[in-house]
Amino acid sequence: MNKKCTEFEKLYLFRTESELAEHVKDCPDCQAEMEKMNKVSELIQEVKPYYIKQRKIASTRLKVACILCFGMLTCLSVTYFTQLAGQNMQATYYTTDSVQYSQTTNEYGIPLDNYGLIAVN
Ligand SMILES: [Zn+2]
Repeated sequence: MNKKCTEFEKLYLFRTESELAEHVKDCPDCQAEMEKMNKVSELIQEVKPYYIKQRKIASTRLKVACILCFGMLTCLSVTYFTQLAGQNMQATYYTTDSVQYSQTTNEYGIPLDNYGLIAVN
């Protein structure tokens, strides 16, 4: 039983192409391994344009999704903070209004006219 040569990987990874080619010329196991590598390489070259096209489409879809998410997040944030600011302004207005009326009418006993101003007789 013949032992299979295991030099191909070592030569492929750690030696020069000329050393690999020289060994492959004389070794049938490594010739078979080299043919497999060439077939895989040809397949990769054949599929490469389709892969790149699919990758570009996926990249474009991802960019569009990111832009949409950012836009939606921005709109929601603006809406939320606008409503929050509106509520704070209303709360401040009513609080100020009620404090003014309660202090002037109840605590100090100053009479007011219909507009909330001090009534002068
Ligand atoms: Zn070999």
